[in-house]
Amino acid sequence: MWRPIREPGVWEGGDTLDRARGLEGKCVALTFDDGPHDECTPMLLDGLKKRGVRVTFFLMGQSIEGNEEIVKRMKEEGHLVGNHSYSHIQLTKAGAGAACEGVDKTSRLIENITGEPPQYMRPPFGDWNEELECRVGMTTVLWSVDSLDWKLKNKNRIVKRVLKDVEDGDIILMHDIFPTSVEAALEIVDALTKEGYTFVTVDELLID
Ligand SMILES: [Zn+2]
Repeated sequence: MWRPIREPGVWEGGDTLDRARGLEGKCVALTFDDGPHDECTPMLLDGLKKRGVRVTFFLMGQSIEGNEEIVKRMKEEGHLVGNHSYSHIQLTKAGAGAACEGVDKTSRLIENITGEPPQYMRPPFGDWNEELECRVGMTTVLWSVDSLDWKLKNKNRIVKRVLKDVEDGDIILMHDIFPTSVEAALEIVDALTKEGYTFVTVDELLID
């Protein structure tokens, strides 16, 4: 399990995540990569709004064009908007120059819509190294529970897998580009709410 810490450019492993600031009880962060998606993401946003739950999105730059209203909505509805690079390449293989260019370009696209540059990034495939870290200057956020939603593409199996593994302080990885992921995510929200979990954005999970 990886624990992101507050200093940009630094992250380390840890057995448990620190408690969300000022929150009592169990908490968990749902995170969604690879969007925005013109149909699935609004469906997810509707369901989250109904439940009063905030999550973290890591957007792919190349999917932002044409979906600006969705990104605006994420921000307006209290979700955290992060960077997942421009296209889904392995950043360490692309070379630092190309990798950072894709990350920067995506940050600018996000800033143009939300009014602020993203502070958090998740590299595609979790593929990252220290050289990129220094150049990008953002906080890298990985995950502690992998839903495997992209592979399972079956609501019940995704829900079962996540609920079996989830613990206090976890960061759950999902993708808001499949209908089955959206359905599963909302069912996970309902189940964990019943178990007493509070949903937080990843910045709220980080230590002071
Ligand atoms: Zn991805």
